[in-house]
Amino acid sequence: MSECIFCSIVAGEVPSEIVHSTETTVAFKDISPAAPLHVLVVPRRHIDDASQITPEDGPVLADMLVAARAVAEAAGVAAPERGYRLIFNIGPDAMNSVPHLHLHVLGGQPLKGHFALA
Ligand code: AMP
Ligand code: ZN
Repeated sequence: MSECIFCSIVAGEVPSEIVHSTETTVAFKDISPAAPLHVLVVPRRHIDDASQITPEDGPVLADMLVAARAVAEAAGVAAPERGYRLIFNIGPDAMNSVPHLHLHVLGGQPLKGHFALA
């Protein structure tokens, strides 16, 4: 079993509610949802966090954004009058807790404020 929880989820060693999967990405429900829609999109390949992205990672980042849109479409929030929020957390001040790159997809209700400051 991998020491990285999200690598373990990608490998199928740890159960998760997978909602979307591609050659390069996996999307699964957040175990502690902060909104009616709260899904994490992760690259299958381990990358520590968004600060470690290099130009060569461009394709997998695009794949993550396309996967996030597919998640939003499946959840019924992709229409122009709805919408959703995408978040990358980096480091302790942002309360980043899992050191495997993940894109939060949040929605399903009007989200308060543009930024969560506390
Ligand atoms: P972050 O604070 O950006 O590092 O977000 C990590 C997210 O991973 C949190 O929202 C957690 O609730 C979520 N999480 C941690 N472990 C699991 C798990 N085993 N399955 C699903 N989500 C998880
Ligand atoms: Zn990992």
